[in-house]
Amino acid sequence: MKRIQKKFTIVGNWKMNPDTVGEARKFFSAISRRAAKNSKVAVVIAPPMSFISILSGKKIHISGQDVSAELRGAYTGSVSARQVRSAGAEYAIIGHSERRAAGDNNKIIAQKTAQALDAGLRVILCVGEIERDNHARYLREIREQITTVLSNLSDKKKIQWITIAYEPVWAVGKNYDTALKPADIHEMTIYIKKIVSEIFGKKIGLKTPVIYGGSLNSENTQMILKEAFVEGLLVGRQSLDPEAFGNIIEYANDLS
Ligand code: PEP
Repeated sequence: MKRIQKKFTIVGNWKMNPDTVGEARKFFSAISRRAAKNSKVAVVIAPPMSFISILSGKKIHISGQDVSAELRGAYTGSVSARQVRSAGAEYAIIGHSERRAAGDNNKIIAQKTAQALDAGLRVILCVGEIERDNHARYLREIREQITTVLSNLSDKKKIQWITIAYEPVWAVGKNYDTALKPADIHEMTIYIKKIVSEIFGKKIGLKTPVIYGGSLNSENTQMILKEAFVEGLLVGRQSLDPEAFGNIIEYANDLS
């Protein structure tokens, strides 16, 4: 695997959309054209698993939206990390709040991360609190989400293939005004890098990319990219609108 040396990584998570191969190809080509014009940005699309092998292009990296915690075997309906890699993905999103809501706990997410890394995938590890409280319990929640995964890594060097996506669950899939303010995102990126530093040392902690996700659109991203000191964004709904997603890519490119 090669390190990606770009200032920003913009990830689009299509979730369980669109309905057809034809639509997926159409969205993908439109986004590819915008990515080609804005080549200072690393663009990653996470389509549904069934579309991974039909979408390819030099300008866009492909990601799985999840992988199995198991290597192979009698797990009907699951898709292994090796299968995701073999289908053409370079990344896997692990620990998305929608997977956590469906039952993935920190231990399962640690196993999935290990499977993905062993299969040669880069990991976008999603962390984020369900709600904020006045006693800062949410900070402990995030610390535990990160430390469970990182302390399970078989080889310390594998941290270089992990990007941490901070996605406060209360800001995912909401009104676009709900997106966190740049200063709050910045504070969380510092906190996340500090947690990584405590495990792997300051140099690695500072280098580990932290991206933000949660109710982003082409308007609020401008300020976040400028002021939040993130290394990228994880975009849900707006990644299915090639025009809006293309604008986000363009802002990131202009700031690179
Ligand atoms: C997400 O689900 O990861 C996400 C950020 O969604 P949205 O952008 O729609 O809030």
